[in-house]
Amino acid sequence: MHDPATGNDREPDRQPDARDLWQAVLRTAVDPIIIIDQDGVMAHVNEATEELFGYEAGELVGRNVSTLMPEPHRSAHDGYLHNYLTTGNANIIGIGREVEAVRADGTAVPVALAVSEIKLDGRSWFTGILHDLTQRRLVEAELREAKEGLEARVRERTAQLESSMVELSRSNRDLEQFAYIASHDLQAPLRNVRQGLELLDDHLGETLGQHFDDEANELRELTVAAVVRMEEMIDGLLSYSRLERGGEPAQNPVDLRLLAEEVIDQMRPELIRIGAIIEVEKLPTVNGDEIQLRQLLQNLLENAYKYRDPERPLRLSVDAVEHGDGMWQISVGDNGIGIDAEQRNRVFDLFRRAHPGYEGVGLGLAICQRIVERHGGDIWIEAGTNGGSVFHFTVPGSSPVPAGAATS
Ligand code: ADP
Repeated sequence: MHDPATGNDREPDRQPDARDLWQAVLRTAVDPIIIIDQDGVMAHVNEATEELFGYEAGELVGRNVSTLMPEPHRSAHDGYLHNYLTTGNANIIGIGREVEAVRADGTAVPVALAVSEIKLDGRSWFTGILHDLTQRRLVEAELREAKEGLEARVRERTAQLESSMVELSRSNRDLEQFAYIASHDLQAPLRNVRQGLELLDDHLGETLGQHFDDEANELRELTVAAVVRMEEMIDGLLSYSRLERGGEPAQNPVDLRLLAEEVIDQMRPELIRIGAIIEVEKLPTVNGDEIQLRQLLQNLLENAYKYRDPERPLRLSVDAVEHGDGMWQISVGDNGIGIDAEQRNRVFDLFRRAHPGYEGVGLGLAICQRIVERHGGDIWIEAGTNGGSVFHFTVPGSSPVPAGAATS
């Protein structure tokens, strides 16, 4: 025999007596082993059988194996054996099954049963090897329970989420309604305040017959500025909530290049004054609402102008790339003062401003976001490569990119 430890061949250990060996194997086997004759009478059971079933071996040997089975198998077992011995049709022999067995105290125990046939001197014997499945069944039951519990929780959470969604969209609608009504109804009294101020101004001027002193002038200017700001906020809020109330946006082909040029033309005197460099690349015709898309471009381009860096000439670009899903991504870039990374998502919120020193009320980007989302797109901001910001948004396309680019 080859010894892997030394690499040499060596004599095998002295073989134990085969009978002793097999008896020891039977006795010490972890699983119950039961040997029956062809009448179903137990001829031998090992220690594991005693342990599992709660019988002494002596109580089992000589009794029919059906003792260990629950009804209806207990009564039918002799018939099963007879049927096998006469027809050779095996139900369990050589196959193996998961079955229930019965202990001495009458409790049931799930077991995996494998039966094989031995032929000795013309007689048949059957060996049954059983494996206790109690532990596995417990684990399976725990798993099933955990799975059912989890499914129930998922169902419960889904139902909660669905009802919160309904609640949320209802309160969103209520909020829209509130924003619209509040901003609409505040317009008239605010106009009255402004007119009242002007009248008071005239009246005091006439009565006093002289100009106000510096302090009175300052107070007057502060009050007028506050009223003007409030008017701007209310107008912005009104346009914001009107976007929602206006129903679905129109779906017309809109030439974005023409639109961008129109917006830039309106701003041109100012852009020339500050020596801005403007690059409008090929832009597509998209599908959408021309008025809303004009407002979107206008808000973005006016912001690029407003938040320019005083240290360098404004460089403004508009370009587009096509996405595979029929959407176009339009990018409006500038080399202005930029937006801190942590503010980039927040500036789309109502009244959120990252640079309070500048004029404005913080509604332009909220309006842009709403317009884009109502067109089925997204809007986001990235830092520009050499300072500044790039605003990207997506909109559904309607035709291929027109040839040629416009540069001014
Ligand atoms: P507003 O300009 O009236 O404050 P917006 O909603 O248009 O409101 O913009 C929100 C904020 O986002 C601005 O206050 C500004 O801080 C920032 N922002 C917008 N556009 C730019 C830009 N091109 N460059 C730098 N900051 C910008």
